[in-house]
Amino acid sequence: LGLLDVDAIRADFPILDRTVRDGRPLVYLDSGATSQKPRQVLDAEREFYERHNAAVHRGAHQLAEEATDGYETARATIAAFIGAGADEVVFTKNTTEAVNLVAYAMSNAATAGEELSRFRLGPGDEVVVTEMEHHANLVPWQELCRRTGATLRWFGVTDEGRLDLSGIDDLVNERTKLVALAHQSNVLGTVNPVREVAERAHRVGALVLVDAAQSVPHLPVDVAGLGVDFLVFSGHKMLGPNGIGVLWGRRELLAAMPPFITGGSMIGVVHMDHSTWADPPQRFEAGVPMAPQAVGLAAACDYLSAIGMAEVAAHEHALTEYALKHVAALDGVRVIGPAEAEDRGATVSFTVEGIHPHDVGQVLDDRGVAVRVGHHCAWPLHRRFGIVATTRASFYVYNSFADIDALVEGIQAAQRFFGVAPAR
Ligand code: PMP
Repeated sequence: LGLLDVDAIRADFPILDRTVRDGRPLVYLDSGATSQKPRQVLDAEREFYERHNAAVHRGAHQLAEEATDGYETARATIAAFIGAGADEVVFTKNTTEAVNLVAYAMSNAATAGEELSRFRLGPGDEVVVTEMEHHANLVPWQELCRRTGATLRWFGVTDEGRLDLSGIDDLVNERTKLVALAHQSNVLGTVNPVREVAERAHRVGALVLVDAAQSVPHLPVDVAGLGVDFLVFSGHKMLGPNGIGVLWGRRELLAAMPPFITGGSMIGVVHMDHSTWADPPQRFEAGVPMAPQAVGLAAACDYLSAIGMAEVAAHEHALTEYALKHVAALDGVRVIGPAEAEDRGATVSFTVEGIHPHDVGQVLDDRGVAVRVGHHCAWPLHRRFGIVATTRASFYVYNSFADIDALVEGIQAAQRFFGVAPAR
């Protein structure tokens, strides 16, 4: 496996043809924040509106039937993409909402079925996260602990930017009810040993939730192989539309969970003073759902499957090796995260001595190179490394070595502009 045919792939992404900043070609290195969309995804969504648009699971007419069929077929495609059953896939707004859905269910475990009520939290119980979590997989657990009196604990991060598993036997113990961790860090690029952590968690009877927002778009992910209980991700980071995310959960767990948002379409029977719930996944999809977005996300899965996720991962691995070699080699540049591309995704965050990351980002932007700057919703992780912000370049199927060359040249231009260029 080698590099993908980037020219052929780029031809599918209309936005990559445009110029920015007075005619400069766009070099898009911000796919970690959100990816661009190929014509196949845009067309699928447009076709839904042009040909089949109706409210799904409602209506006695042909369009409603076609819309429902499109929505449920999309669910099956997306489920197959992660090796899951269609009835285990719940559509949410994004990763953030999916995490909150599970956290809400756990804080209401008293009203849940047996499979979940065993995980009812109270004082003395523990929830374990990691220091490298995105706020989306941290703040909901802080709030869950606050509401229930449970204690939040976390795995630290080594200087190299990997999970510090040395204290795992102490950290994951008989008081642990849930372990929530990122599959791939959105700052460090680190790919965490999820299966190993999940095995330990299950040995003490805890649940495991994986934030796969940065892994499902970039690596082959099979929920059964990972051996976890919940897995969450966002459509917009994997070539799909905005406004759609996925909660995958083990069938028995979803069946035991109380609803998060209540209203139409999620009910069994409604009386004036009480109601019962539909089975999953409908129980968690109140209101008219995002059918065009589901159809678009299924088209994104088809697009990625046609390339092959192993091929996607190999391409990104080559880009990461190249970027680590050339960015880290610059004087005054410090890469935050593993120095080797092994077990590491295509996200390279760095600081440039003497220049604020926002200024680095601005010089890059002036040259048409789009990166992200700031704490990337991982404030504690930045604190861990004694910094307030980084500049982050993240790569995807449409990026090439030339894009990384543009990044390197841009960093050198920033160093010259701010007078911190190393002496030659
Ligand atoms: N987790 C990780 C690791 C992420 O990178 C992101 C997006 N930056 C999220 C969660 C949140 O995703 P969303 O904003 O789509 O809910």
